[in-house]
Order: sequence, then structure tokens, then C-alpha cells
Amino acid sequence: AVLKQRSTLGRFYAVQRSGLSSLVFVETKGSGFEEGALNAISAARKLSGPITAVVAGSSADAAAQTIAKVDGVSKVVVAKDAIFDHALPETTAALLKALQESEGATHIFAPHSAAGKNVMPRLAALLDAQQISDIIAIEGEDTFVRPVYAGNAIATVKTSDKIKVVTVRTTAFPPAAESVETAEQVEAPAIDAKPMSKWVKEDVAKSDRPDLASAKRVVSGGRAVKSAEGFKVIYDLADKIGAGVGASRAAVDAGYCDNSLQVGQTGRIVAPELYIAIGISGAIQHLAGMKDSKVIVAINKDADAPIFQIADYGLVGDLFTIVPELMEKV
Ligand code: FAD
Repeated sequence: AVLKQRSTLGRFYAVQRSGLSSLVFVETKGSGFEEGALNAISAARKLSGPITAVVAGSSADAAAQTIAKVDGVSKVVVAKDAIFDHALPETTAALLKALQESEGATHIFAPHSAAGKNVMPRLAALLDAQQISDIIAIEGEDTFVRPVYAGNAIATVKTSDKIKVVTVRTTAFPPAAESVETAEQVEAPAIDAKPMSKWVKEDVAKSDRPDLASAKRVVSGGRAVKSAEGFKVIYDLADKIGAGVGASRAAVDAGYCDNSLQVGQTGRIVAPELYIAIGISGAIQHLAGMKDSKVIVAINKDADAPIFQIADYGLVGDLFTIVPELMEKV
């Protein structure tokens, strides 16, 4: 029961009779956008029905050009206005609520990023819905799978809310690919939103290394590196193999590296093709952030360290001997 409909730009797309339709929030960054939106689009594609991407901010038109060429996107709503910059929740949630009404959306998705976690609870409150957070799978239009207890249990949750407000664990869905077609772009309607907070500034650690969230390889150091100077072995190995750098919370708390590198329950969640954990014991809170990595290598002097239970390859020994040896061999 698929009905073909013509979009205003002459693009054909399928509108399912299911009545489902999704909005996906795209956070803009300068003239680009946060790539987690591509994973959220993949999640939305698990449902039938059209997908409308919402791109907001003073450079929204630039980001919208790219989003319009993403597979599965049927329409892009462009809200080119500085009041949406930095994804301030008061304005962004008001915009998404207005679009939910005008588009008749049944589902609203955002990445489970800092912005998603900031905007979506407010939107859920405005829509009188219970937010469904950090999903890793979709079983049906009202049924979602999400990790709980730092990933130690997996809950399947079913909602009776009419509108589903959902944040997506980006590592659980592949990024949506580029399409040969271009979706239509429309201007967002004006909304009556009064920002109650003001964005002042951000201090972001600058690095030439691949970003942790998107790096295909990650080298992480733990408490065992012993000092900020000791952490140099982690950077050296990462640079040698073109990897991003991560750390355990113990290494961050001890001041060996910047806290933006923390991987785990209270840090970043990563799922690279290769994760090398060096001098990290494998506490559940650390595993919560990296256990979905495709290949895990652990270097630890304690053969009974819990990290070896999930490692594909384990090297037992002193990291200060093993890592330089490894560097010579790669
Ligand atoms: P340790 O547990 O001290 O392990 C060090 C390891 O290095 C040991 O296994 C040791 O055998 C090995 N070692 C020592 N010397 C050498 C050497 N020379 N060569 C090789 N190996 C050596 N942790 C996170 O990482 N991320 C989080 O997001 C996070 N969130 C948390 C949230 C909460 C609410 C709580 C309570 C804790 C959280 N933690 C988190 C902390 C977590 O419980 C652990 O304390 C932390 O992960 C331990 O870090 P570590 O493995 O570097 O240190």
C-alpha cells in the first residue's frame, strides 16, 4: 500500500498509508552540522513514512544543502535565524513543537548528543510526552530498545504517547548515505519563542587528531600511564596509527589529559573499528562507552584485569615496554 507522491522539486517519494512521519533535528555547527544527525536519520528510516530534517541556525541554508542530499530525507525545513544558534533549548524546542504540529509528525528524533539531551526533554514536556532516550534499536512504531544500568541491561520500552520524542545512540545506527536525489527545501514558519538563556562562549580543546566520536581507531590510556608526561605514549601510538585519543575517568581525574577525552558512562560513547585500551582495568563504567567497538585490544600487566573479558586481543605486560615495541612494529 505505497502511494507515490510528487514533491515540489519533482522528486518522487513513497508515502506509506501507515500515517507515520518523522522529524529529525539537525544541529548546525558553523556552515556544517553535527554528523550524529546522519545516524538519527538512519534510525528514523527504520519506520515507514517520510522524514523531514529540521536544520536551524544562522547558517542553516548551507547545512541544508548537504542534508537535502541524504538518503531517506524527503523534505528539509530550514530555519535560518540566529535565535537557533548553539541549539538553545527554548527556541529550538519551540520550533520543533511548531513543526510537529504543522507536519503532523508522529516521531521526533535527535542524536543523544549534548544538544539532543538539552533540547529533547524540553520538547517532550511541551508535547506532554515521555522522552525515550538513547535508543539502540527500533522494534516498532511504539517500541524501542535502550541500554540501562550503564549498558549492563537492555530494556525494551513501549510507549502509549501519541507523539514519540526519541534520542538515538549514534553508534548503534550507521550514518545515512548520500542520495542521488535532492529533497525539497522549505522555509520554517516564524515562531514565537523567547530565549530565556543566552549563549556566552565555549572553550573547546583543539586537536589535529581525529575526533573521538567519528575516529575509526581509538587509543585510550588509563591510570597506569601515571602522569601527563606518561600519557605521551598514548598520543604517540595514536599519531602513528592515525587514531583518536581517549582516556579512562581515572586518567582524566588525575589530570593526565583533558576531560573531553573521557570514554564511558559519564564520557563519550564510541564504537570504532579498533579500540586499544592501555593500562585500563575495564570497570563497567568504562566498558559502557567502548564495548561496541569492533575489535578491542587490551594492554595490561594484570592478566586477570576485567578488560580481558571483552578484549579480542590481549597483551599482558608493562605498557611502557609493550607500547614502544608495538610502535616499532606498526
Ligand atoms: P584502574 O582501575 O586503576 O586500572 C588501572 C589498570 O592499569 C589496572 O588494571 C592495572 O593492572 C593496570 N596497570 C597498572 N600499571 C600498568 C602498567 N605499567 N602497564 C600495564 N598495565 C598497568 N570510568 C571511565 O573510564 N569512564 C566513565 O565514564 C566513568 N564513569 C563513572 C561514573 C560513575 C557514576 C562512577 C562511580 C565511576 C565512573 N568511572 C568511569 C570510574 C570507573 O569506575 C573506574 O574507576 C575507572 O574507569 C578506572 O580507570 P582505570 O581503568 O584507568 O584505572
